[in-house]
Amino acid sequence: MEYKSFLIKYAEIGLKGKNRFRFEDALVTQMKYALEPIGEFEIRKESGRIFVETEQSYDCEEVVEGLSHVFGISGICPIAQDTVKEIESMGKLLGDHVEEEYPEKNFSFKVFVRRGDKRFPMTSMEAAAALGEIILERFPTLRVDVHEPEVALTVEIRERVYVYSREIPGPGGMPVGTNGSAMLLLSGGIDSPVAGYMIAKRGVRLHAVYFHAPPYTSERAKQKVVDLAKIVASYAGPITLHVVNFTDIQLEIYEKCPHDELTIIMRRYMMKIAEHFAREDGCMALITGESIGQVASQTIQSLLVTDNAAKMPVFRPCIGLDKNEIIAISEKIGTFETSILPYEDCCTIFVAKHPVTKPRLDVIRRSESKLKDTIKTLVDQAVETAEIIKIRAHE
Ligand code: ATP
Ligand code: MG
Repeated sequence: MEYKSFLIKYAEIGLKGKNRFRFEDALVTQMKYALEPIGEFEIRKESGRIFVETEQSYDCEEVVEGLSHVFGISGICPIAQDTVKEIESMGKLLGDHVEEEYPEKNFSFKVFVRRGDKRFPMTSMEAAAALGEIILERFPTLRVDVHEPEVALTVEIRERVYVYSREIPGPGGMPVGTNGSAMLLLSGGIDSPVAGYMIAKRGVRLHAVYFHAPPYTSERAKQKVVDLAKIVASYAGPITLHVVNFTDIQLEIYEKCPHDELTIIMRRYMMKIAEHFAREDGCMALITGESIGQVASQTIQSLLVTDNAAKMPVFRPCIGLDKNEIIAISEKIGTFETSILPYEDCCTIFVAKHPVTKPRLDVIRRSESKLKDTIKTLVDQAVETAEIIKIRAHE
């Protein structure tokens, strides 16, 4: 089905009182970003509603797919519109909509009228009754059911007249850019892209950091992370990705520290470096894809020790999810296929056979003290030599 206009409904952001404009503007910005690769659209605000309009008709599915990436949208309604506010022409508009949208004229319906323009001479009830009659006259095989209609034929009388009968659910959440920024520790795995998606859904703008260990990890492993970042950016908007060369730090830890503590110590340095970039980029939190008990470095004791490495709050939206639940989200958002490509991760290069599962902070700190002469220089070097990649979804 081809459509030229869409009515966008938004939920939570409607509640924000004085801040509403800021929220609406952020929503419009994200909508433009999502629709950019599809075509030319105009986005218009009108009394608590947002409309997407085009000169050319576009395939409904394609536009809906684009908009389904925009957090803050609760529903997308393909609409027909007209400027004439007379009951006869509204009936014609609504009838044409039924004609096109429902080839089988065999369903029960109810007409709903919303009257934003109070100068319109009929009440909503009167207009709904009159429109119902016009529809029944034109399509005698339809039935009215005011209690449980199969189709809700909706007419909104505002600056113009809008008719629609379908609302496709949007992703919900809040528009990106309305709740500050956070630094995502993005690996090539399944969990961290999902974690980034979930936090962005609450309106948080994402920055990201990836630790690689050349030549132990390959260029392809890095490209995989860039590809994942692009998919996440199709929801979250542009992302600044810091690619940190972690090799020397890992080798140093490997040389000086007990091997069963490698992963946890490494994770602590990742947190520290991520926090450094977070501060530089104006982020207020870190995000990881950890989930309680998934691996040795994600036991509750390990999380306590990892957390202690950074001062910022660490958001772990996957914390209570089972792996299959995380996978279901990654499939839904489209990162799964890329995540399971079999490239090495820096965490898997220097792993011990039997990593500690219940690390103690004092013990780990004592081990880290063996790094005291060298680690600062190595961390500084890693920070200074980090590559910055600007990620945009559509390029
Ligand atoms: P993921 O699927 O996200 O890789 P995982 O189950 O493999 O997670 P770990 O390897 O223990 O778990 O990593 C836990 C978290 O630490 C990841 O979710 C990610 O946030 C972060 N992380 C791990 N490795 C890296 C890396 N190379 N670069 C950036 N962040 C990383
Ligand atoms: Mg991983």
